[in-house]
Amino acid sequence: METTKVNERIFLSSPHMSDEGYEMEYVKEAFDTNWIAPLGENVNGFERELAEKVGSKAAAALSSGTAAIHLALRAAGVGEGDIVFCPTLTFSATANPIIYQNATPAFIDSNYETWNMCPKALEEAFQKYPEVKAVIVVHLYGLSADMDRIVELCKKHNVVLIEDAAESLGTYYKGKHTGTFGDYGIFSFNGNKIITTSGGGMLVSNNEEGIAKARFWATQSRDQARHYQHSELGFNYRMSNVVAGIGRGQLKVLDQRVEKKNYIYEFYKRELGELEGVQFMPSNDWDAPNYWLSSMTLTGKVRPIDIFKTLEAENIESRPVWKPMHMQPFFEKYDYVGTDVSEKLFENGVCLPSDTKMTEADLEKIVETIKKLWCE
Ligand SMILES: *Cc1c(COP(=O)(O)O)cnc(C)c1O
Repeated sequence: METTKVNERIFLSSPHMSDEGYEMEYVKEAFDTNWIAPLGENVNGFERELAEKVGSKAAAALSSGTAAIHLALRAAGVGEGDIVFCPTLTFSATANPIIYQNATPAFIDSNYETWNMCPKALEEAFQKYPEVKAVIVVHLYGLSADMDRIVELCKKHNVVLIEDAAESLGTYYKGKHTGTFGDYGIFSFNGNKIITTSGGGMLVSNNEEGIAKARFWATQSRDQARHYQHSELGFNYRMSNVVAGIGRGQLKVLDQRVEKKNYIYEFYKRELGELEGVQFMPSNDWDAPNYWLSSMTLTGKVRPIDIFKTLEAENIESRPVWKPMHMQPFFEKYDYVGTDVSEKLFENGVCLPSDTKMTEADLEKIVETIKKLWCE
């Protein structure tokens, strides 16, 4: 196992290429054949291999997870003035594409059982906005949302479900991969995700026509013609063949990364779980999380800010839980359905360093540094 060198910063979650050099082999192949761009065998291979891994019929490799959400919304027919339900507790990339489509988000609260979209709040939102066009659900930090209830509600109301599984590649809900429950699922390979291509995303679906359409939009909507002809608005959203090569290599070590993230979570829970006021992110028996970020809430005398400061002094990165969208200056004008669960999770939440390159010594150092706060 590699070691983090003395005085090197410990990150929340940073790129971790395989020890075997799988990524370089695929990238080298692209170089050797001069097939750097645009598409090529790595793109096709990455789409095929990821679809197979998660159990989806089809996949489109794109330039980012955000682009994948954008095209999922377009495929769902979301347009000007349409209402889209979106969890409030998430990264802004979940919500931004709703605005790209000139649609209107309505933000939905979390529950404590999952930290994700609260089915009761979702039901309430359906009463309030029966005309809603689509629902986006997120699997935060690799914990799956309550999919049985959310899928059932979306079916009942005949609404398209999009799963933002950007943080949950490798997570299973009742034995099935997150990202494959909805009409469309998306993954991200941004630098801090469980596997990375330096930047990139994937749209998955069992609707092969929808995926073909997404590929068409992602390559500037070029009609079948000798000349350049466009009958629809296009985007430049495709993944390059070099980037896809990194993804193919990373996919080979996904299970190893999930295993390490699980180890990190168990380590923290064992070492910190009994401290006064500490509550770890929820675990449900339906869930096999990838534990992308190990997170906890603090409701005792030690506050999140104490943790951030004391870790930063040791050159260790940690972070608050996502600030809810309905509290963001840009999004606060939109409606919000729920109580104060997401606000409390934001107020009390801490994301602990969850980098898979951490050594046993790193983990020891982190928990010792944190534990001291309870001795003061
Ligand atoms: C990272 C992330 C995204 C966006 O993915 P990019 O590839 O960075 O565009 C979307 N949603 C969530 C919840 C994320 O964490």
